[in-house]
Amino acid sequence: MTTRQPVTIVGGGLSGVEVALTLSQSGVPVVLYEMRPRTETGAHKTADLGELVCSNSLKSVDPETPHGLLKEELQIMGSPVLLMAFECRIPGGGALVVDRLRFSRAMTRAVEDDPGITLVRERVDRIVETRPLVLATGPLTHPVITEDLLRHIGSDRLSFYDAISPVVEADSLDFSRFFRADRYGTPGEGDYWNVPLTEEEYRTFCSELLGGERVPPHEGVEDRPEVLRAFEACQPIESLVEKGPDTLAFGPMRPVGLINPKTGTIPFAVVQLRAEDADGSAYNLVGFQTKLRYSEQERIFRLLPGFSEVRFLRLGSLHRNTFLDAPAVLRSDLSLRSLPGVYPTGQMVGVEGYTESVAMGHLTALFLGPRPPSSLPPETTAVGALLRALMPDAYRKTPSGESGERKAVPFCPMNLHFGLFPSLPNRVRGGKRERRRAMIARARKDFEIWWKESAKPEGRGPDPEEKKSLGIAMA
Ligand SMILES: Cc1cc2nc3c(=O)[nH]c(=O)nc-3n(C[C@H](O)[C@H](O)[C@H](O)COP(=O)(O)OP(=O)(O)OC[C@H]3O[C@@H](n4cnc5c(N)ncnc54)[C@H](O)[C@@H]3O)c2cc1C
Repeated sequence: MTTRQPVTIVGGGLSGVEVALTLSQSGVPVVLYEMRPRTETGAHKTADLGELVCSNSLKSVDPETPHGLLKEELQIMGSPVLLMAFECRIPGGGALVVDRLRFSRAMTRAVEDDPGITLVRERVDRIVETRPLVLATGPLTHPVITEDLLRHIGSDRLSFYDAISPVVEADSLDFSRFFRADRYGTPGEGDYWNVPLTEEEYRTFCSELLGGERVPPHEGVEDRPEVLRAFEACQPIESLVEKGPDTLAFGPMRPVGLINPKTGTIPFAVVQLRAEDADGSAYNLVGFQTKLRYSEQERIFRLLPGFSEVRFLRLGSLHRNTFLDAPAVLRSDLSLRSLPGVYPTGQMVGVEGYTESVAMGHLTALFLGPRPPSSLPPETTAVGALLRALMPDAYRKTPSGESGERKAVPFCPMNLHFGLFPSLPNRVRGGKRERRRAMIARARKDFEIWWKESAKPEGRGPDPEEKKSLGIAMA
């Protein structure tokens, strides 16, 4: 038995359940609050914990992909939710697809049957004084507790919807078609790459956007009047085209102040590309949030000059999401700077997706557990790459005091992709496939060292050698 005080968790979704079970397994008592079924979110349909609100896929298990790697790391750490997902697996090719009802029932039963967890079916409306307090209230956090949280962290530190622009791989672009320049800066220099479009190219692009097939709003979530009002402030590019044929050319594709040094003129329209990382291995299409279907985005964006071979690391979207400005509000132990002892986790901390949310829950539990890791996971690992995106200052190699130099780029939630991993220090022969293999191999090695030397609590999680015995498709 432990003498530690109980940890209070608000939210019994994927991340809240992961924190609760992981802590309880290490002897820490937990009180878990879940507002459903008394209060609905609009998206959840049952009273079960950890309900998947949309797709029933937890993405790839291919060990050569970032998602496969993330699952491997979670498995080594002993993630109870991931283990249940594998137990509820149904055929789904290379993805971890689950029987959604069995999966959420398994989580509910595991929590209800755990003598170390007290489950309270109540809504929590404020940041209660109890510490430690975990906030795992997810993308559809109830508005009443959100208001209280805003009072503590500042109104500009939390967003209510997520406008994601596509991110593309640098080496899939034809940069000879682009020019470097910052708006009103010296042509040929600057942080942005600009994709110039002639009027004809612009008109063709707009007409494809107009005709492109769109994702309908999630019923009960994004069709609510207050959310529709919020979306008014951040329109998808295809909706801007609907307002008028030149709206984009005066909006996100405006060319003003951008002289193409090759022609000495200002193009009719531009797409601006902003680097996602210091190495310039991935670029964001600035202001290109969209609700087009993924297949349509791939087809239409390939029409842009220099984009015919483009590969996407992330596609665009626009949806309801409650998330924190993680780099500004988080300490390196994942707690809130302005509220010591309060730990936001899961999707609200700034990750996207089921598995990423489980991963955040697991890390939070590790930091709150009886033997917290002595260091953060390396940025070269899947969990470390996610953490570095949330807390870049904690991963800076240079002395502290640099936080003020962070570029004022708004924080955008992310799912795990290759662009979040640091580049390899040396050139790798054999092209992209070999480079990625080397990145995954590096991650595996670094994770194993970190886990053994800095993090593995006694008696928890299988050793890498043992993992095959669980029957999980890992390398
Ligand atoms: C409409 C929609 C569709 C999505 N589709 C996908 C998809 O296809 N694939 C994918 O990977 N991800 C998808 N996501 C994201 C996915 O839902 C999240 O990544 C994941 O569920 C996050 O886990 P979480 O624990 O942070 O939050 P959740 O799983 O949402 O859990 C949060 C829990 O907190 C409870 N709660 C909220 N406020 C309070 C309160 N004040 N008091 C008590 N309890 C509270 C909620 O009832 C809920 O049970 C979607 C999200 C939405 C909103």
